[in-house]
Amino acid sequence: MDRQRYALLGWPVSHSVSPQMQEAGFRALGIDAVYEPIACPPAKLDHTVQRLIHDRYQGWNITVPLKYDIIPCLDVVDPDAARAGSVNTVRNLGGALHGYSTDGYGLARSVEEAFGLTIADCRFTFWGTGGAARATSTYFAAKGAKAIVLVNRTLDRAIDLADAIRASNPQCRVSAFSPDSVDLLEKAIGKTDVIIQATSIGLRPEDPIAIPSPLIACCPNFLDMIYHPTAALHEAKRLGCNTADGRGMLLYQGVRSLALWTDRDPPVEAMRRALDQALEHR
Ligand code: NDP
Repeated sequence: MDRQRYALLGWPVSHSVSPQMQEAGFRALGIDAVYEPIACPPAKLDHTVQRLIHDRYQGWNITVPLKYDIIPCLDVVDPDAARAGSVNTVRNLGGALHGYSTDGYGLARSVEEAFGLTIADCRFTFWGTGGAARATSTYFAAKGAKAIVLVNRTLDRAIDLADAIRASNPQCRVSAFSPDSVDLLEKAIGKTDVIIQATSIGLRPEDPIAIPSPLIACCPNFLDMIYHPTAALHEAKRLGCNTADGRGMLLYQGVRSLALWTDRDPPVEAMRRALDQALEHR
C-alpha cells in the first residue's frame, strides 16, 4: 500500500510539534504515513484544500487562524465542531470532507488526568474567551459540566459565548464577567473546581500574569492552555493549587485526531514521549 499522507494547515505552522507527535503515533501503529506542516495563508485555503484532495491526503489538522475558515470547505461537520464553530481535524473520505473539533476532548482528558476530575461533576472558570475557550467550553457544557464562569477583557465576547452555551445546554449555569469585577469574581470563581487560563498572555516570557493572585488562590486546580510553564502556572503552584500546563490538551487533541483518521486505538504513550522530546528540543 502507498504511504499515507496527512498534514497540518496553519499560518504560521513552523513552530508546531504536531508532526513529531503524529508521526510517532503512526509509527507505533505500524502505519506508513507522513504528516507535513503546510503554511497556508487564509486567502489560499480553498486552493490548498483542493490540492490535498487531488493528492489524496487522508486527513489533516487545522490550526490558527483557519479553524473557522475551513468550515465552508467541508461536506459534513460533526455536532461538537458545529457547536464550537471550529474545526481542527479533517478526514477525507474519497473526496468527501468530514470536519471535527478535538480540542474539547483534549482539554477534558487533560483535566481528568491531571486533577482526577470528571467533567460532568464539575464547575469551570475559563479566563479568556477566544477560539480555544469557545471550542472547549462548549464541549464541556455538552458533556454535562454543572457551571461555567467566563471572564474576558472584551466582555461582549464572553457574553456572546455565554448565550451560545446556554442556548444548547440549559442544564449548565453560565455567567460572564469582565476581569475588573474582582469582588463578584471571587465569589463566582470560588465555587468552581478548575480555572482554565485561556488567554494568549504568557506566550512570551516577559508577559504579565493575566489573573490576579487572590482569584487564582480561591480555586483548587489551575490549568494553563499554554504548553510551556508560564508565570501564571508558577504563581498557581506557589499559592498551593494543583497545576497543569497545556501539554496534556495538545497531546489528547492529537490522540483523538489520530483515532478519527485510523479507527484504531492511538498509542498515547508513544505520542506523549515524542511530544515531550519535540518540546524539549525547540
Ligand atoms: P484567540 O486569539 O482566539 O484568543 C485570545 C484570548 O486572549 C482572548 O480571550 C483575548 O481577549 C485574550 N487576550 C489576548 N491578549 C490579551 C491581553 N493583553 N489582555 C487580556 N486578554 C488578552 O486565541 P486562542 O483562543 O486560539 O488561544 C488562546 C491560548 O490557548 C493561546 O495561548 C494558545 O497558545 C492556547 N492554545 C493551546 C492549545 C493546546 O493544545 N494546549 C490549543 C489551542 C490554543 P479579547 O477577546 O479581549 O481580545
